[in-house]
Amino acid sequence: MNKVISVCPYCGAGCKLNLCVENGKIIKAEGADGVTNQGQLCLKGLYGWDFLNDNKLLTARLNQPMIRRKKGGPFEVVSWREAINYTAHKLKEIKEKYGARSIMCTGSSRGTGNETNFVMQKFARAVLGNNNVDCCARVCHGPSVAGLQVTLGNGAMSNSIADIENSDCLLVFGYNCADSHPIVARRVIKAKEKGAEIIVCDPRKIETAKIATQYLPLRNGSNMALVNAFAYTLIDENLYDKNYVNQHTEGFEEYKKAVQAYSPEAVEEIVGLSALQIRQAMRTYAKAKTATIMWGMGVTQFGQAVDVVKGLSGLALLTGNLGKPGVGVAPVRGQNNVQGACDMGVLPDTFPGYQKVTDADARQKFAREWGIPFESMDPDVGYRITEVPHLAIEGKVKAYYIMGEDPLQTEADLQLVRKGFDALEFVVVQDIFMTKTAEQADVILPSTSWGEHAGIFTCADRGFQRFEKAIEPQGNVKRDWEIICLLATEMGYPMSYADNKAIWDEVRKLCPLFYGVTYEKLAGLAHIQWPCPATEHPGTPYLYQNNAFDTPTGKGQLFAAQWRKPAELPDDEYPLILSTVREVGHYSCRSMTGNCKALASLADEPGYVQINPEAAGNLGIKDQDIVWVESRRGKVMSRCSINDTINKPAIYMTYQWWIGACNELTQDNLDPVSKTPETKYCAARIVKIDDQ
Ligand code: SF4
Repeated sequence: MNKVISVCPYCGAGCKLNLCVENGKIIKAEGADGVTNQGQLCLKGLYGWDFLNDNKLLTARLNQPMIRRKKGGPFEVVSWREAINYTAHKLKEIKEKYGARSIMCTGSSRGTGNETNFVMQKFARAVLGNNNVDCCARVCHGPSVAGLQVTLGNGAMSNSIADIENSDCLLVFGYNCADSHPIVARRVIKAKEKGAEIIVCDPRKIETAKIATQYLPLRNGSNMALVNAFAYTLIDENLYDKNYVNQHTEGFEEYKKAVQAYSPEAVEEIVGLSALQIRQAMRTYAKAKTATIMWGMGVTQFGQAVDVVKGLSGLALLTGNLGKPGVGVAPVRGQNNVQGACDMGVLPDTFPGYQKVTDADARQKFAREWGIPFESMDPDVGYRITEVPHLAIEGKVKAYYIMGEDPLQTEADLQLVRKGFDALEFVVVQDIFMTKTAEQADVILPSTSWGEHAGIFTCADRGFQRFEKAIEPQGNVKRDWEIICLLATEMGYPMSYADNKAIWDEVRKLCPLFYGVTYEKLAGLAHIQWPCPATEHPGTPYLYQNNAFDTPTGKGQLFAAQWRKPAELPDDEYPLILSTVREVGHYSCRSMTGNCKALASLADEPGYVQINPEAAGNLGIKDQDIVWVESRRGKVMSRCSINDTINKPAIYMTYQWWIGACNELTQDNLDPVSKTPETKYCAARIVKIDDQ
């Protein structure tokens, strides 16, 4: 049996594992001694490789290039040469007819790796001539990136996953780590065992709330009011570090004024907590020698998410909890390589290494390296994934090249997304499975999967890690970056690389933040965190050492905004609040985990609606009953799961169920800055089937 070192392809915890290979097939996975996981794996790491066996449980593996020549017609299997020629010709035609900005691309935050993401954004910028390239960060931690870039200078975790357990206090805000990152949850438990205070702010009594020393079950949609009340308390009770604020921050007087109306007593009704609970939480946070704030989708999937992220970083700035071990701000990124996709510039506003596309010097540098005229580089920020349905309906986006994303399952308000797709002239899907989106494609370009290729991922704490190829791919598939290079070449921009290392060396050359992370240094179990500016540099376990922030002035920016109500409030017709959540055994659109036998048997119906016992009783619903869940945008059938961890009047659903995805119900009220949809809040109702 051969053991091949890899990195789990699911969440951003970045667990290292060994894929055990016998007779050319993976037969099991076992935890390797990685920096973040120390030999441990969760269910998905242990059993999540089985989709490589093409079990056809949920959907079939894509194994031939295919073209659909007429909308609604059948797919036709074609040669790679024909698929590439056809796609390149169509994209060229659309670019010439409607302009460079009429084509949108996605990178992928899943198993494809940093090298491919780099090549995809290069395709958008150097071949298409636009910045229309984005990834699923837009619907998860986009607000964390946007908010932290302004307040601290880097849109990433300031600390390390491994260091979480060394904090004396963890403020866990809107983050269900037990389900979304079980191995990170293990660090939270370890911190608790070492005596840390654990403060949990979440409307649901999630697993972490059960071990919390203080649990604050705030009302859904009241985040900004609570964060402002936290800031008010720190200032009002003189709990903040005045020297730190004077020396290392800017904007204190305006910040103080902005939170003036948010005394804990004044916000009790809005947040559904007592003033004492709020004050006590901040007394504990401020008193701790070291404190870390962790957050997840419960913060970022709201229409006011960027403001809340800025507010949370303000709490760390007020108390000096940055720039040393055991402290920091930790937006724990969702998908295994969503940090990497952002690092590689699969964002409409930044080149790789967070160099702004609006900066003429940066454009000059990339144009020179890529051998293209400076004038052909788009100086404007490109489109975001969540804007595409609207832009397609308006006729501004005509073609969509989607790699390793499934917007027809994962985006908010699927009816709107479908309308957008209907308006597109040309859709190319490059993926490993026949996803909901692939079913609607004009061209399918089948690619190799994690396990079948090697590369580099970045985990949630900025740590680069290498993963290796374990088995030979099945079918007539190609490596993602190779497909993109073939298309670029056919479109008149010759692009080719000898291997992953050649791409990575180009990344290093162009990105000072990553220059020191050589392929050689990443061998085996290595985990190197950026910034790593020189080859002899060991990487950076925590940012902002010596309180040097990466903002234009070098100081942390204090910021507070007024609380806004969510866009769609419950009423008599739709009296419940629907929020989307995660399921521990599955991941993202479920195309991978849904095709793993062990995981599928664990949760073969991950679309259930979670409801409070009293609310269920009022509706005459019993556990496991099948009901309609309805919003103003649609209705889906779902099984009920009644449990007392659920608050009233909220209900919770995962978006992973393929038959009646809960994104039929969600709404696309977008944060004005990050354009992230408010999938944590919309008005809904439950209707018993026999009431119809
Ligand atoms: Fe680790 Fe996340 Fe994979 Fe689980 S899903 S093994 S926590 S990387």
